[in-house]
Amino acid sequence: MTLNSPPLWRKIQKENFTHWEKLADFLKLSETLRKSLALGPRFPLNLPRRLAEKIEKNTLDDPIFKQFVPLQEELLKTSGYVEEPLQDTTFRKTKKLLHKYEGRALLLATSACAMHCRFCFRKNFPYETETLDFTQDLNHIVQDKTLNEIILSGGDPLSLSNPQLDSLFQAFDTMPHIKKVRFHTRFPIGIPERIDISFLEILKNSSKQIIFIIHCNHPKELDKDVLSALKKIQKLGIPVLNQAVLLQGVNDDEQTLLELSEALVQGGVLPYYLHVLDLVEGSAHFFVSDERARELIQYLQKHTSGYAVPRLVREVPGALSKQILI
Ligand code: SF4
Repeated sequence: MTLNSPPLWRKIQKENFTHWEKLADFLKLSETLRKSLALGPRFPLNLPRRLAEKIEKNTLDDPIFKQFVPLQEELLKTSGYVEEPLQDTTFRKTKKLLHKYEGRALLLATSACAMHCRFCFRKNFPYETETLDFTQDLNHIVQDKTLNEIILSGGDPLSLSNPQLDSLFQAFDTMPHIKKVRFHTRFPIGIPERIDISFLEILKNSSKQIIFIIHCNHPKELDKDVLSALKKIQKLGIPVLNQAVLLQGVNDDEQTLLELSEALVQGGVLPYYLHVLDLVEGSAHFFVSDERARELIQYLQKHTSGYAVPRLVREVPGALSKQILI
């Protein structure tokens, strides 16, 4: 490898499935099943090969398939499901900075993700994508002394290169009022190779307390490589937590949620939140009622340790914090 060659994870990312026909062939979908696919959705198909390899062949009934493959169902208009359910644009302080909750601001570092989740509440967000220059956003953070935590979000912040992340961390290091930097990322689930040596160096060299929050909805998403990548982060003394979304047909049953919690805890990852669905258009087929969601959490409370039970939460636009349902 030469000094200028792209990192391994970028090469792996290029192998993502982005054309429905290639994916349908790979999954050996019958002609009948192919008719259920949405062929040109506004939020395009984007699926890492290693996740596609976990999908059962010639069926639509697979938890990974359902999360990432666009289906005709998502083209249906359903009353109550809107483009931007959380109205995040109203909290924009600069082009890339959202300030919703006290003390914390969200840096929408990029619009790019390792994979495209069909239920994503930000799939229609009007990201600022023209520039990767964070000067205006960092200036705002410097001036707002009420902030003590920056959440690197997106898109997925691990879509940024290591030099880009490094320069952000160097900037945070010059801001004494910023005590914590949090990642919200799904990258390690799709491309665990992203947790490479240079990224770990950036984390190691930061003077801030880092908190690493992944997004995993089903135990099938976890495997030896994913857990080993997360272990490297844990070994730096960085807490790793998980937030999941409750999705009909994916994880809305007792056994799956229990297995997910147990697998996460076994890998040293604490289940943090279980989000009820944000009502973004095209996601009605994922809806689970609050009543059923509470039942599922009560089941976990009975069958596993307290630290393995996530909080059931809903984001309410304009509220000062998440609404805790149980
Ligand atoms: S990885 Fe996160 S931001 Fe990206 S599509 Fe999935 S849910 Fe949305």
